[in-house]
Amino acid sequence: MKNLNYSVFETFHSFQGEGEHSGRSAFFIRLYGCPIQCPWCDSAGTWLSAGESDVQKMSPEALAEAAATAHPDFAVITGGEPTIHDLSPLCEALHAKNIPVHLETSGAFPLRGEFDWITISPKTKRLPLSENWARASELKLIITEPEDIGFWIEKISRERVPETTTIRLHPEWSQHRNPAVLSAIADCVCRRGHPFRAGWQLHKLFDVR
Ligand code: SF4
Repeated sequence: MKNLNYSVFETFHSFQGEGEHSGRSAFFIRLYGCPIQCPWCDSAGTWLSAGESDVQKMSPEALAEAAATAHPDFAVITGGEPTIHDLSPLCEALHAKNIPVHLETSGAFPLRGEFDWITISPKTKRLPLSENWARASELKLIITEPEDIGFWIEKISRERVPETTTIRLHPEWSQHRNPAVLSAIADCVCRRGHPFRAGWQLHKLFDVR
């Protein structure tokens, strides 16, 4: 196993609030760094790149031990944009503890590591690498205005996305009470059916991380 320490923004035990595994016990590992910098990012504190400050460094084994202590159903590696790091050692350490590894990523960088579930949330500022679209277990589209839906449908139709990949439409949280955004999502799901799903951030309703 490679000797590599990760710059860790935070770790915490909660439930997965989004996507196919919503509601399940999950240990979150949030790593530093994201060069994409979406204007509505809800984890902008992670943007500080590793080495710019006195950030917490943890080995893959220490992170896996922390996850194992929580006894979650799975670990979620997130950020920031976690795939700017080589995640292979962290995946190996988590698997050595028999913890399934879920990844949350924009898909804009090569995916390094063995993952049991991959959520790709594509961003317009930096689109996923073409080889990553087909690797997604699910796609999570963040909808800031109704016009976003057509943009993403056109984009996805040109990529090699398997028919089994679910596509979840999430209102960007500042728009989660915007009737235009919500009705556009509902209309898309009702008209198109599978693989489209309406998405939500359940943990925010519970006011937990
Ligand atoms: S890609 Fe994700 S972490 Fe990076 S700025 Fe956008 S929402 Fe934030």
